[in-house]
Amino acid sequence: MVKPVFAIVGRPNVGKSTIFNRIVGERVSIVEDKPGITRDRIYHSAEWLNQDFFVIDTGGIDMGDEPLIEKMRHQAELAIDEADVICFVVNGREGITAADEEIAQLLHRSKKPVILAVNKMDDPSLHEKLYEFYSLGLGEPHPVSGSHGRGFGDMLDAAKEYFPADKPPEYDDETIRLSLIGRPNVGKSSLVNAILGEERVIVSDIPGTTRDAVDTAFKKDEQDYVVIDTAGMRKRGKVYESTEKYSVLRALKAIERSNVVLVLIDGEEGIIEQDKKIAGYAHEAGRAVVIVVNKWDAVEKDDKTMREFENKIRDEFAYLDYAPVVFLSAKTKKRVQHLLPVVNQVSESHNLRVPTNVLNDVIVDAVTMNPTPTSAGGRRLRINYTTQVSVAPPTFILFVNDPDLLHFSYRRYLENRIRDAFGFAGTPIHILARKKR
Ligand code: GDP
Ligand code: GDP
Repeated sequence: MVKPVFAIVGRPNVGKSTIFNRIVGERVSIVEDKPGITRDRIYHSAEWLNQDFFVIDTGGIDMGDEPLIEKMRHQAELAIDEADVICFVVNGREGITAADEEIAQLLHRSKKPVILAVNKMDDPSLHEKLYEFYSLGLGEPHPVSGSHGRGFGDMLDAAKEYFPADKPPEYDDETIRLSLIGRPNVGKSSLVNAILGEERVIVSDIPGTTRDAVDTAFKKDEQDYVVIDTAGMRKRGKVYESTEKYSVLRALKAIERSNVVLVLIDGEEGIIEQDKKIAGYAHEAGRAVVIVVNKWDAVEKDDKTMREFENKIRDEFAYLDYAPVVFLSAKTKKRVQHLLPVVNQVSESHNLRVPTNVLNDVIVDAVTMNPTPTSAGGRRLRINYTTQVSVAPPTFILFVNDPDLLHFSYRRYLENRIRDAFGFAGTPIHILARKKR
């Protein structure tokens, strides 16, 4: 359930970002023939032999204007703190440098599993260069070529050996796992405190959780909740923790472990780019979402302000049109009492299973009202049967004559009809098409 994290470290220009791209299987960050280029995405989910994991390219974390060696040290520390397995990349053509040795020592001391990737081994004639890398004391060097895509199978096999075995679920199914995401200072910790301070909320002992993520469990009206990664909301003071990319990474990991995500927006400051990025991830991950506009006390308002703000949210977060919006103030606690009932409701939608016969009636009616589209060649989509295959998020399969005939707009239309019929407030729903056998 909780994906292991594989972090790539190494000095500049050894090929970290090229390797990252290979592992995630698409070109997500920019690789050019100049060092120090800005990278867009430094974390991505990946899969190897049915094992899902996260990859982090620590080279893309901007540490500010530190001297190079400090920067590398901080990147390595981040990897040591966050990763289950570290991929240490060196340049096979250049041999070992002083900076490599320095990083190797840090990794060595951390006792984290390390996969030593010797990059730029574009053809086997270069393999004799491998032997010197044994002296780094990090075990067997794995020859790879980022640009040619060689050696990745063996390297990822070796990494997979170290991934923690499937952990049992951390909490039982009945517990609502909440994460609060949003930029620094939006009021995440204040809101957690406000929730915990509500009437009839019983805070229990903090269960021992994964690594440095400390969760907070509580109960209200017989419903169990846990706030995921309460520790991550506190300021902790390491150099890299103030960087934006790090806070996004932290948020991703919290989203992964939760089933309801509260996306916090600063009512005073408005919506920023980072809000959209993280909210997009919650949506992609299939979590239930509530948009919370905090600091509403500090906003000068009249009878239209709330509607205007909500319209802005709907524009900016078009894909989250299913997410309810709650305006509140963590500071004055005004309207905080409305939040948990909304959380309960979206969690219910997220887990809702609808009767198959009613579902098929809804689809048949939808097709009657608005016939299925035809292709350019005149072939019409035919839907034979629809079934809900899973919850969290609710996922439907349409058995059709040809899945390619189901286009975005008709899928969207069907989604809306399903929502009209059953609700599903606060949860994304997935609609897949399969060829009927
Ligand atoms: P980073 O700074 O460690 O992330 O390194 P990059 O991924 O940006 O790569 C630095 C340079 O090395 C780029 O010019 C890449 O094209 C090149 N490079 C990366 N992998 C390989 C490889 O396997 N073989 C060769 N010959 N060049 C590579
Ligand atoms: P975090 O970094 O997201 O955890 O944010 P904090 O909870 O630490 O809050 C950051 C700052 O915003 C603090 O000074 C809070 O007092 C302030 N703050 C939080 N919630 C509210 C609110 O509802 N209204 C106002 N006016 N200030 C708030």
